Amino acid sequence: MERTIFYEQVRDRLIRYARVDTQSARVSDTVPTTKKQFDLAYLLRDELTAIGAADVWLDEEKCVLYGRVPATAAGGMAFGLVTHMDTAPDAPGANCRPWVLENYDGGDILLNGEKGIVMSPREFPNLKNYVGQDLILTDGTTLLGGDDKAAIAAVMTMAEHLLKHPELPHGPIALAFTPDEEVGGLARDLDLDRFGAKVAYTLDGDYLGYYEDETFNASHATVLFRGRSVHTGTAKGIMVNAGDLAAEFVSLLPPSWPRWT
Ligand SMILES: [Zn+2]
Repeated sequence: MERTIFYEQVRDRLIRYARVDTQSARVSDTVPTTKKQFDLAYLLRDELTAIGAADVWLDEEKCVLYGRVPATAAGGMAFGLVTHMDTAPDAPGANCRPWVLENYDGGDILLNGEKGIVMSPREFPNLKNYVGQDLILTDGTTLLGGDDKAAIAAVMTMAEHLLKHPELPHGPIALAFTPDEEVGGLARDLDLDRFGAKVAYTLDGDYLGYYEDETFNASHATVLFRGRSVHTGTAKGIMVNAGDLAAEFVSLLPPSWPRWT
């Protein structure tokens, strides 16, 4: 597979960002849900400054990072690129050890000889789409966090290239890097005025060339039912079973909510 001139920059950035633990948390009373997301936010802020991005600003309360690639041509409308810094809480994110498998042959991949962890196209058939390419992997004990750090690596590399080449004509490009996407926070704390673009793309997930232009609201609620525990000898008419409350609550919900088939 032919490598683009950006190959090494994107690869090295992804590996560098993957090593920073930015796992978010489903249960948390802080903003962002984990303070360690700031570790990557500071790193990216300094990197944006170093490559010469404009209006670099980190919201030190909300952990949202902003930057801009100024226009090199008149008349262009601003557009934005949004990526997220956190990784999913479903698998460990600390001590990520990324490595590169060059020219993947389509077979099983031994991620970890010591622990016997193998990634197989039998389990992940989409691996077959990447035969002949280089894969960035982990040792199987953590997430890589390519979601969404691969996109961050691509955005940073694009920004660096455009800032180095003002002869390439383009309008203003607004950049935002957000926390807590994996736990429902995507652009919740994005300051749209500061962001400065009326249209934007979220670069996240899925395969090359895939594009979504609509979505549905997948917000969630957590409902806690508390019963009343009473000694059974005197409980009649007083004890309340939390399961009964939950069943009553569910029965009150309209049964014809749209089903996404
Ligand atoms: Zn994502």
